[in-house]
Amino acid sequence: MAKKEQLPKKEKKTTSTRKKEVIEDTSSVQNQAEGKELSIEQKLTNLYKLQSILSEIDKIKTLRGELPYEVQDLEDEVAGLATRIDKYQADLKELETIIGQQRIKITDSGALVEKYQSQLDNVRNNREFDSLSKEIEFQGLEVELAEKKIKEFTFEVKNLTEEIEKSKHLHEERQADLKSKKEELNEIISETKIQEEQLREKAKQIETTIEPRLLTAFKRIRKSARNGLAVVSIERGACGGCFNKIPPQRQLDIKLRKKTIVCEHCGRIIIDPDLANAENA
Ligand SMILES: [Zn+2]
Repeated sequence: MAKKEQLPKKEKKTTSTRKKEVIEDTSSVQNQAEGKELSIEQKLTNLYKLQSILSEIDKIKTLRGELPYEVQDLEDEVAGLATRIDKYQADLKELETIIGQQRIKITDSGALVEKYQSQLDNVRNNREFDSLSKEIEFQGLEVELAEKKIKEFTFEVKNLTEEIEKSKHLHEERQADLKSKKEELNEIISETKIQEEQLREKAKQIETTIEPRLLTAFKRIRKSARNGLAVVSIERGACGGCFNKIPPQRQLDIKLRKKTIVCEHCGRIIIDPDLANAENA
């Protein structure tokens, strides 16, 4: 098994179609023809450089990645609050109309009571007296009912007014949050835009130094790796990507920098930490 993963430079593979074969080095012929064969060490260095640049781009994306969602959430919240305030204000208007109607009712009833009371002075019989008394009593009940309603609706108006004030306050707060988040996002976008473009340009240049098959393999590994790392170094005797132990013999092979060696567990390309350190320095 191990032999298939450690692909010696000039080993010819004609029958095997295993996945791991993609990392097989087929560039030597091409590069020899061009008279500039790269050593495995140089290839690994280039891959590591590419990995570092792409990781930087990933970082920028992560940084920006959360802010647009935060801005979107705030925009939704602000819009929701505005709708709520509008609805409350419409309800408030309705309540005030109802209260106004009740007040008119009270005035009307009062006028009627006055009229009936003046008529009481001129009643001709008991029947008329009873009828007028009943009307006066009825209007009295109407006034009581209207007053009860006014009391209820005034209480509702008070609550609603408080709710509107609270919502307006929250709306203002969220709007301020939104404004600052938007500014933050725009700043990051404009700040990182140039940086990202420069990194992409660098990545493109390095990609031209890596033979297509190796580059394809690198991209495939990167895509399937959760952290976007296709090239990792040995970390305390383990794979820097999946943290599984690397057998001592493999560790030695990696340090020799004579073969492209992938992790048996995660498939990432493993390089000598000194090679990575030299690049990071
Ligand atoms: Zn691994």
